[in-house]
Amino acid sequence: MHELTIESLTTLILDVPLTRPHKFATTSMVAQPLLLVRVRTAGGVTGYGEGVVPGGPWWGGESVETMRAIVERYLAPVALGRRVDEIPGLMRHFERVVSGAHFAKAAVDVALHDAWARSLGVPVHTLLGGAYRDGIEVTWALGSAPVPEIIAEAEHKLASNLNHSFKLKMGALDPADDVARVLAVTEALRGRAGVRVDINARWDRLTALRWLPQLAAGGVELIEQPTPREQIEVLAELNHLLPVPIMADESVQSPHDALEVVRQRAADVIAVKTTKCGGLARSRDVVAIARAAGLSCHAATSIEGPIGTAASIHFACTQPGIDFGSELFGPLLFAEELLIEPLRYADGRVALPTGPGLGVELNPDAVAAFTRD
Ligand code: MG
Repeated sequence: MHELTIESLTTLILDVPLTRPHKFATTSMVAQPLLLVRVRTAGGVTGYGEGVVPGGPWWGGESVETMRAIVERYLAPVALGRRVDEIPGLMRHFERVVSGAHFAKAAVDVALHDAWARSLGVPVHTLLGGAYRDGIEVTWALGSAPVPEIIAEAEHKLASNLNHSFKLKMGALDPADDVARVLAVTEALRGRAGVRVDINARWDRLTALRWLPQLAAGGVELIEQPTPREQIEVLAELNHLLPVPIMADESVQSPHDALEVVRQRAADVIAVKTTKCGGLARSRDVVAIARAAGLSCHAATSIEGPIGTAASIHFACTQPGIDFGSELFGPLLFAEELLIEPLRYADGRVALPTGPGLGVELNPDAVAAFTRD
């Protein structure tokens, strides 16, 4: 049997507590569930991937529980006995067995890359064509506490030189209150840090037409996914109307989605998540389409733990087209460190790990402490 042959593909669900509650438009979480996918080769190498969605199935229909079932019942039988260097063929075979389920497929894709790179003794970014940069800027997502606490959190991040740009989630409150809250934070940070907002597709067209111009006039520098995923023409209307960039997130979950956003000039920036795009190759296709059309790309997060974040850092650092920074802050929101050596955040950016595979090592005690079952 060849040493790259996949001998086992198993999963583990972790629940990792956060430093503070993290609020989205329709839910709030105090712990982030993670699905760890473990690939073991005949050569004795283990690779990890992470299946993670932001706090539950509200974003895209997948959760750690659905991902576990898809991976164990349907994807693992396809992979067993094949080799970790057959990734394009395996991903194609996965498409034949399971439609959609991109977060689950991405977790397996990353585990295969990690195991293959470790088997060769090279970093994952080498498999992806080589590093273009050695780190990437990180925007921080502020919480949903009262305004003075949010400003204090931003001031702390600025003072410790951790982040120079901030994102606020919107869509959970009445729009008038939501806009007043965001403008108060933007005003407090004016001239010192950029503020952007993510509405997570919660506003309808008329709400967006009424309130987005006020956010732009108040100094908000970028508006992420204000309106529903499938309404590309509404996103295009808003993008043509507003003096600040629109970023598409929910609207772009595949290369074809990216093509549609390009056709309608519906956004200036595309949020690329290796998770939602279904792995590294499809993410690369999204970036290629954006780049050919002159659109920027942002390395976005679904609040990944250290494995998923490391995978996204490797990806982002190999792509010149990811020219709009990142929000790869996931591990900083976790109250507990899962790695033996944490990812390195400093000077407003996160460094590209350099060791074999993803370049990070899980601490088995920490993993055991947060394993659900
Ligand atoms: Mg988003």
